[in-house]
Amino acid sequence: MFLPQEIIRKKRDGEVLTDAEINFFIQGVANDTVSEGQIAAFAMTIFFNEMTMPERIALTCAMRDSGMVIDWSHMNFSGPIVDKHSTGGVGDVTSLMLGAMVAACGGFVPMISGRGLGHTGGTLDKLESIPGYNIMPSNELFGEVTKDAGIAIIGQTGNLAPADKRVYATRDITATVDNISLITASILSKKLAAGLDSLVMDVKVGSGAFMPTYEASEELAQSIVAVANGAGTQTTAILTDMNQVLASSAGNAVEVREAVQFLNGEMNSRSEIRNPRLFEVTMALCSEMLLLGNLATDADDAQQKLQAVLDNGKAAECFGKMVAGLGGPKDFMQNYHDYLPEAEIIKPVYAKEIGTVTAMDTRAIGMAVVSMGGGRKVAADKIDYAVGFDQFIRLGETADKQTPLAMIHARTETQWQQAADELQRAITITDNHNSYQATPTIYRQIRAQDL
Ligand code: URA
Repeated sequence: MFLPQEIIRKKRDGEVLTDAEINFFIQGVANDTVSEGQIAAFAMTIFFNEMTMPERIALTCAMRDSGMVIDWSHMNFSGPIVDKHSTGGVGDVTSLMLGAMVAACGGFVPMISGRGLGHTGGTLDKLESIPGYNIMPSNELFGEVTKDAGIAIIGQTGNLAPADKRVYATRDITATVDNISLITASILSKKLAAGLDSLVMDVKVGSGAFMPTYEASEELAQSIVAVANGAGTQTTAILTDMNQVLASSAGNAVEVREAVQFLNGEMNSRSEIRNPRLFEVTMALCSEMLLLGNLATDADDAQQKLQAVLDNGKAAECFGKMVAGLGGPKDFMQNYHDYLPEAEIIKPVYAKEIGTVTAMDTRAIGMAVVSMGGGRKVAADKIDYAVGFDQFIRLGETADKQTPLAMIHARTETQWQQAADELQRAITITDNHNSYQATPTIYRQIRAQDL
């Protein structure tokens, strides 16, 4: 017989908790016999004392098992169940293309995504800019669309990892969100409840990343790989750059438009077929998903298969099937321009002086989207799907009278002006091109065997 206060005391004193103690505490969180004050104290002891890897694995499994764990075996999928999760970014629309590309290569991607959080965009908000798209289908429809299209992206039901919901709500108001043990268990409990065979984690690095430094992002990636594999789900992490907006757009409908153009092989807002950084990150994540799912023999084979499904239209077809299966238009991939909402004012903003773009405060750019109504300041806010940016300039490029910082999609002139001011403040321009130091798009990969 355990007592929550004794478990808190033990952790407070720097001792290691047993699996049974952690299970008892988390069961109490799920059935409300552990109070909010006890959750707060538990989180704070972990904040100061961290957890060993075995403790983190026990915490993750206990939170995963606190609600429904999806069992897909009755669906008889003809391939592996694979997924990707990102720590969140700005203009990070990879999920939309990646799921469809992996599905077209034989994987099954039942992706449970979230809404925007702070400055980062949310996949669900982006998908809700498609008229009719239902992010909360029944479990049956979720399974059917995953089977038929190979991909279904939906929202989280209250049943998945309910203990995390309570723990996170308390962490949010007690300054205990930024702790690697707790973040690892929180992210993984929800993902692993989706019944995956394997997972690829995109851990962002840079000015728009959730973690404040490269070292912290790397530490989180290592923790996630160790814990997820320890919990029985093959997982690789890839550290990718978030020192600038990843796609050429940032917002909701603007990003969906870019994703569709990427899959269809059409020109994007910068008159190129696929933004090269977005392409590199998407291919790296997809490639690892194919390898973990035994759908490719090596990285070259994976890249060839992925390029083929982009070229022959199969990836676009999977995305279209998902949209139609979840209630969206049947001809979305062909006629997306008619369906996606557009803002009244679409105008370029230029830099105040001519020069090289040497840095972006990507977090501030994400907050500029939120200020326009493209994200939420409080959970109850309604999203304006049409606003945002596209044709985004990149680090190392020259901002001049022909090359804007971005096109702003706004509802009013006042809103346009505010976004223009925020963008000009967030983007650093210098007249000395040599002072620009390029950052890698992909920093490193961490597989289980690398630990
Ligand atoms: N996202 C989560 O889901 N949990 C955390 O703890 C932090 C980010």
